[in-house]
Amino acid sequence: MDHFELRNGVLHAEDIPLPQIAEEIGTPVYVYSRATLERHAQVFADALKDIPKKHIAFAIKCNPNLGVLRVLARQGYGADVVSGGELERALAAGMAAEDIVFSGVGKTRAELALGLDRGIGQFNIEHEPEGVALSEIAVGKETTARAVLRVNPDVDAGTHAKISTGKAENKFGVGIDAAPAIFDRLSALPGLTMRGVALHIGSQLTSLDPLEAAFERVGRLVADLRAAGHSITHVDLGGGLGVPYRPDDNPPTPAEYGAMVARVTKDWDVTLMFEPGRVIAGNTGVLLTEVLWVKPGAANPFVIVDAAMNDLARPALYDAYHDFVAVRPTGEKMTASIVGPVCETGDTFARDRVIDKVEAGDLAVFRTAGAYGATMASTYNSRSLVPEVLVDGGRYITVADRIAAGTIMAAERVPDWIE
Ligand SMILES: *Cc1c(COP(=O)(O)O)cnc(C)c1O
Repeated sequence: MDHFELRNGVLHAEDIPLPQIAEEIGTPVYVYSRATLERHAQVFADALKDIPKKHIAFAIKCNPNLGVLRVLARQGYGADVVSGGELERALAAGMAAEDIVFSGVGKTRAELALGLDRGIGQFNIEHEPEGVALSEIAVGKETTARAVLRVNPDVDAGTHAKISTGKAENKFGVGIDAAPAIFDRLSALPGLTMRGVALHIGSQLTSLDPLEAAFERVGRLVADLRAAGHSITHVDLGGGLGVPYRPDDNPPTPAEYGAMVARVTKDWDVTLMFEPGRVIAGNTGVLLTEVLWVKPGAANPFVIVDAAMNDLARPALYDAYHDFVAVRPTGEKMTASIVGPVCETGDTFARDRVIDKVEAGDLAVFRTAGAYGATMASTYNSRSLVPEVLVDGGRYITVADRIAAGTIMAAERVPDWIE
């Protein structure tokens, strides 16, 4: 459910007609709905009501906009961060250091030190040398890092290969068989409190089965670690729950996920940690775009829009599907390919798809663009960096400015030793 609806034939974000935003801000532009964001955050939290001890950390890589993060901070969400930059953002948005979890496969020593200086809640250690480094840095600062070991449970998440993270051949975590010995050694180090384990097997999961299989493996690991004398108080179950991108997609609901988690973990007696990203932010945003041209093609016409792969990379990166709907639909349909202006054949949002009939000058949106959308934007082809708008009922504000190509150019220089 979201708050992007037709009213009197015009697509609105909450109470704001999208043509108003196009007129005042220009296109392309990301438009987020605060009510939708809050609702998704609430639904996810409600789905975990049967879990006695828990902590929810929004995976901010999917939408790190400060305005968005502030909304979630007010809902009691912490943050899962994967870089020093994200760590500073989470704090700037008002999330408590205590509520921040630091994931990421290649944290630098400087980033580990930053996490300690800021007093974050937990480090998710990806492999033994990182744990050793964290111990050394913590000892140098006369402090102690709370940490868990990320394990790779070797299950196939059944999602796109580029967003699958829990197979043995993926770069993430340590093999679950190697975990007990590594955990033993890290636990013996000073400056480190090893309090549990973490996993995250992939993103846009459309079945609970791989998650359940992975959680069961981790449950056995927790029992083994306890049998070896370790105190295990925290298990971080990661994120990954899928969202509907197509009108007929039917991914598991947060309630179904919560029920499965409650069942599988009922005897664990730990604080469960969650790192949802897409399921919170995906349907809270659309990318608003204007049709520039409709150009004849060999089979079907090309609808050339003013958004491109640099604004929304997912179709080019993962062959992802984003629903495309007209802001003022007439009821008529056409079959077309939707492409952007960038000089790459990969700059294609849809091939030979039946869509609302549009003409040059019409507005349209790509739906479900609130996660892994603006955050992946670039200025490729010297395009502007796409702006973001947050709607709240009958008001909206620009929560990220459009950054003009000229501003980017101003940060470059021509060496004076090239005549
Ligand atoms: C990306 C990521 C997430 C969030 O994944 P979603 O599919 O967006 O829920 C959670 N945890 C870690 C460690 C991640 O890398």
